[in-house]
Amino acid sequence: MKIAIEADLSLENTLLSSFACYLFRETKTPRETIWIGQAYPFEGVRLRQTEGIVEIESQGHSQTVLDYLKEDAIGLWHEPNLEDVESSKTLQELAQRIVPGIRVPRLHRNKWHILLSALLSIHAKVSYSRAWFLSLAKYSLRELQTMSPSELRDHTRNMTGISAGFRMRYLTELVNDLFEKYPDAEDPLEELCKRPAPELRVQLLQLRNLGPKVCDCFLLNAIGDLSSSPIDVHVRRVSEYLGILPAGLGMPVPSYCRGYVCSKDGPEAYGLPTCPRVDRTAEYLEEKLDSSGTCIRAAMTHKFKQAGWVQAILFLFGQRFCARTPRGEPDCSNCPMGDKCLRDVLPPVVQTHRVRLRIFRPRVVTPKAPQFPELPFFQLYPEVKGAVDIKSREIFDRIGQKLRGEKNIMGTCLWLACRLMRLPVLIDEVALAYSMNSSDILRSYEQIREQANLRIDLADPKLYIGRLQRALKLPENVISLANLLANASRGRCLNPVSLAAASVFLAARRLDFHIRQEDISKQLSLTQPTVRNVAKKMVISEKHRNRT
Ligand code: SF4
Ligand code: SF4
Repeated sequence: MKIAIEADLSLENTLLSSFACYLFRETKTPRETIWIGQAYPFEGVRLRQTEGIVEIESQGHSQTVLDYLKEDAIGLWHEPNLEDVESSKTLQELAQRIVPGIRVPRLHRNKWHILLSALLSIHAKVSYSRAWFLSLAKYSLRELQTMSPSELRDHTRNMTGISAGFRMRYLTELVNDLFEKYPDAEDPLEELCKRPAPELRVQLLQLRNLGPKVCDCFLLNAIGDLSSSPIDVHVRRVSEYLGILPAGLGMPVPSYCRGYVCSKDGPEAYGLPTCPRVDRTAEYLEEKLDSSGTCIRAAMTHKFKQAGWVQAILFLFGQRFCARTPRGEPDCSNCPMGDKCLRDVLPPVVQTHRVRLRIFRPRVVTPKAPQFPELPFFQLYPEVKGAVDIKSREIFDRIGQKLRGEKNIMGTCLWLACRLMRLPVLIDEVALAYSMNSSDILRSYEQIREQANLRIDLADPKLYIGRLQRALKLPENVISLANLLANASRGRCLNPVSLAAASVFLAARRLDFHIRQEDISKQLSLTQPTVRNVAKKMVISEKHRNRT
């Protein structure tokens, strides 16, 4: 069956400026380019364009699939907002003459495909990532959950001749994380997508291995959120060189994107505050004095109603002309915008002062100490990292301006967040990560407690026994006995961490499970004599209890 549609778009520019091109293979003939569907539900469908007519040749596809293809997949579902390009002559020229006819595809029936292709495109040539995508597109999320990174690496190498490498670890971690959030769902991504776009962005960014660019690609091409503009070097370079945005704007910062809504419109509806970079960027766009603390994504959203559509124009232009060639320079001699390019006259960006934003940002003086993500605690409990990050910021937001400037406050917020969430973090590991003493944390806690009206209870030894179970892979019977022993001695030993260590040590000994005292003490940052002494005290008081 053949269908012809009169369409005010360029099929090639639309597909190549989005992730829709991953679902099709292009075949060039001397007369035309044919796009052949490679992934569900478009397998075998052929698309070509002759001037203003897009022709679809289908092989028994249902009407629903054809409607999806005609409307959503080639971007006819939306009308471009021409006001966005009318504000700048350069942008108008790009949109009408240099890379004309771009629309934004909305591939809502291929959500996983879009996320997968965006993930595979990280630091990879488009030709490789498209080949890897086609080798993996047939697997459902459930099937991918059963495959290991090495299996997937071998699979991509066998199918395409080159392994997708570290991306396969990213992929399996992401899939597992999705199923951890929605264990019973057949398609956890669909479940996640039931929320509004600003909230969805924050949730996506809290999944493993997803950064702002991949999430914005997903929001734009899978959800059709035209306010989302994925920012990469192409977009940044072109917008600066062609004077579409002022030079010196910062790139999106993942730690901000994970905890803040990137828009001023009704953030309270999502229970999250607006990113402080949004206001800072608006100020900079007005006065252009100091670009510190700004963000190019916020500038795109501030300036354009359909920032995602404008980004597609800048991206395609950047790829065709402004991307660095193997010699390391853009192809300026063939660039149609050469006379408007500001590249050689842009002054180096000078930041006149450092802006302190209301944000949780650990200030670590010496990089020798592990940073926030490297805390041993998060290696054992990776699933809580995002939640702890958000809780820490909440605490930080509740304390006064003066206290926020103090050196030890970041580490204390993190420690306090873990304790309030009943997580078995060690004060010593937080202190080490932030180059401070544990007494500094306790001192800062006293001040925060006053100001933010927060109070933590004595920790439960069972939590630390659980931590030892994860770290040392202890069997259930040892853990049950250790919990019983800890419970019986709780009133006699005030330190819950050493009580947990001694209880596990005694339980293992009684059940003939071999475990070294050194391993227990190391895991909980205790000395071996401490563990022995507490264990001795526990035995004595047990005997005493039995006698009475
Ligand atoms: S303004 Fe920038 S840093 Fe802040 S949430 Fe938006 S993209 Fe992220
Ligand atoms: S002249 Fe060169 S640097 Fe300037 S926009 Fe064109 S390709 Fe890019």
